[in-house]
Amino acid sequence: MVSLAAAPPLWLRDNCPCAQCRDPRNGQKLFQITELPAALAVGTVHDTRTPDGAPAREVVWAPDGHRSLYAESWLDAHLPGAAAGPGDGRTEDDKELWAAERFADGIPEAGWASYMSDPAVRADLLDAVLRLGFALVRDVPVRDRQVLDVARTFGHVRVTNYGELFEVRVEADPNNLAFTGARITPHTDNPYRDPVPTLQLLHCLTNAAQGGDSGLVDGFHAAALLRAEDPDAYETLTRVPVPFAFADEHTELRAHRPLIGTDPTGRIREIRFNNRSIGALRLPAGLLAGFYSAYRRFGELLLRPELQLDFRLAPGDCLIFDNTRLLHARTAFAESGDRHLQGAYADIDGLASTLAVLRREAM
Ligand SMILES: [Zn+2]
Repeated sequence: MVSLAAAPPLWLRDNCPCAQCRDPRNGQKLFQITELPAALAVGTVHDTRTPDGAPAREVVWAPDGHRSLYAESWLDAHLPGAAAGPGDGRTEDDKELWAAERFADGIPEAGWASYMSDPAVRADLLDAVLRLGFALVRDVPVRDRQVLDVARTFGHVRVTNYGELFEVRVEADPNNLAFTGARITPHTDNPYRDPVPTLQLLHCLTNAAQGGDSGLVDGFHAAALLRAEDPDAYETLTRVPVPFAFADEHTELRAHRPLIGTDPTGRIREIRFNNRSIGALRLPAGLLAGFYSAYRRFGELLLRPELQLDFRLAPGDCLIFDNTRLLHARTAFAESGDRHLQGAYADIDGLASTLAVLRREAM
């Protein structure tokens, strides 16, 4: 049996499960940390059982005499020294990093009909988006605005200055190179926004043009490679805020974020990479040179052919991908050819929630 001695009193009391401390209807805490006694200490401890008969320990607190009942199983899992808990699903630790070869036998996909009718198929597909960064739904009805209905199967559409959805096709006076036939190298979308849209959907309505093939690169894998091959460059890209900006007649957006975002413990959590929207960095010359050398190095790495998964979207295909992790690309296409996708943004917290509830219901 593990000892309570190593547990800081404030931590242990903050986790008291009693009905005075947590609302039994929703599990939410009913007190502020500042309301606990300043001289809080464990008074007496004795072995007992929970109301459903599981082994437990009861703590009587000094100086206020409050009583807390902790299940032994909870103490085993949570006391200092227990194994680290699961992450929040967003960092490299919770992902399967990949190069193109990983999908030699096919990419994660499902047909629209089974995706809609079978919760297990839906769960597998959403799990692939979280774990691998993308999945493809096939045979989605080729219908105007259908991409919004796909997003609503797992979350909420993120409306932006582009509207609820954006048209990816050749436009006469494009405010973005995406709306021309130009080749687009691997990038993430909207790095000039904070928060950035965490998910993107691309629904193919027509793809009859010569060219216009799609590519995906795992940015977490690329960043991990950079960390292994050139730790100084990696470090630079996690530290230097990059001024991303977008402006057109009605809009002016900016966000200053590093190309490789890490969490407080240094794990890779977010990639922002888009050559079209990087503004002029203002730094001392030495730091600028260091940044540009690291930026170029990372850019070269992202273009390694073995990292890029290439495929071609057919009418009815809807690609769903993690815009904080995967970079997407397309080859040039003849502007005279017919190519039309509709895109939308959504968010990954909603998708993760939908998956968690699906799994709860499957138990
Ligand atoms: Zn309590």
